[in-house]
Amino acid sequence: MFFPSNYATICVRLNLCGVCQWSERPTKNMFIISADWLWYGLVLAAGLILGSYLNSWMWRVHEGRWQFKPRFPGGEGAQPSTIARIGGRSVCIHCQRVLAWFENIPLGSFLVLRGRCRTCRRAIPLDYFLVELAAALLFVGITYYHLHLPAFSPWHFFRDIFFSALLVVVFVYDLKYYIILPSLTLAGTTIAIFFNIQYSTVGIKYWILGAIVGGGFFALQYLISSGRWIGAGDIYLGVMMGALLGWPVILVAFFAAYILGALAAVPLLVFKKKGLKSEVPLGTFLAVGTFIAMFWGNNAIQWYWSLIR
Ligand SMILES: [Zn+2]
Repeated sequence: MFFPSNYATICVRLNLCGVCQWSERPTKNMFIISADWLWYGLVLAAGLILGSYLNSWMWRVHEGRWQFKPRFPGGEGAQPSTIARIGGRSVCIHCQRVLAWFENIPLGSFLVLRGRCRTCRRAIPLDYFLVELAAALLFVGITYYHLHLPAFSPWHFFRDIFFSALLVVVFVYDLKYYIILPSLTLAGTTIAIFFNIQYSTVGIKYWILGAIVGGGFFALQYLISSGRWIGAGDIYLGVMMGALLGWPVILVAFFAAYILGALAAVPLLVFKKKGLKSEVPLGTFLAVGTFIAMFWGNNAIQWYWSLIR
C-alpha cells in the first residue's frame, strides 16, 4: 500500500505492504524479531519525547509564557493562540533559565538531577516525570495491542496513538488546573469525524448519535445548574467522546469514568482532603473512561448484551 513490495525484506510487522502475514509469526527468524524490538524502541522513544514536550506545552499554555516573545497581531503583550504555542526553548519553571540539551532528556534528566533545577535547586514537579513515563508506556501498550490484532490497520494505530496523547493532556490539565482546553477537544472532534468518514465500518449515524448523547448529557447539566456543576469544557469533551467512540460505546466511557470518580472520591472524603462540594476534575476521569472505552468498549457492550439476553 505505502511501500514497494521489496519492503517486506525490512518489514517491521506493520503489514503495510500486504506481503508478510501477521498471523504466521516467524519466531525462528531473528531478523524479524529484532525488527519487532526496533519498532517498540521507536515507539518508546516517541512516547518519551512527546511526553516531555506535552509537559512543557501544558505549562506554557497555562502560564501564558512564551520564550520567543514574538510580535503577534495586537501589539505588546498580545498572546498567541493555544495551538500556536508550539516552539521555543524549554525553561526552568522557577528561575526561567533556558535548559541545556541534556536537561531535556526525558526521565533521565529528572533522575540525574534528582528532581531539582541545576541552578536554582528548586524542585521539578514529579508529574513531569510521570507524564513522560505514562506516554511512553501507553504508546508501547497500544503498539503491542495493534501488532497482535488479526489485521494491522495503520490508520487505526495512529488514531489510537493520537487520542491517547490527547487524553493524557486532558487528564493532567484538568487535574492540575481544573480546565478542559476547548482547542484540544475541538481538534480531537475534527480528527475523529474525519477518521470516521474515511475509515469507519459502522454507519455515520452511530457517531452522530454518540456526539449528541455525549454533548447533550453535559449540556443538560450545564443548563439545569446554570454552569455551577460542570464547565463548558465538559460539553466539548462529551461531543469529542461521542464522535470518537460512537453510540453505544460512549456509555461505557461514562460508566467507567463515574465509577472511577466515585472510587477516587471515597478516600478523599474519608481523609477530609476534600469536602462534598469540592471541585471535581471530571475531565480527568472522563479521559480515563474514554481510553478504556476505546480499547474495551465494544467488548463491554457485547458482554452486557449477553447478560440481559
Ligand atoms: Zn531553576
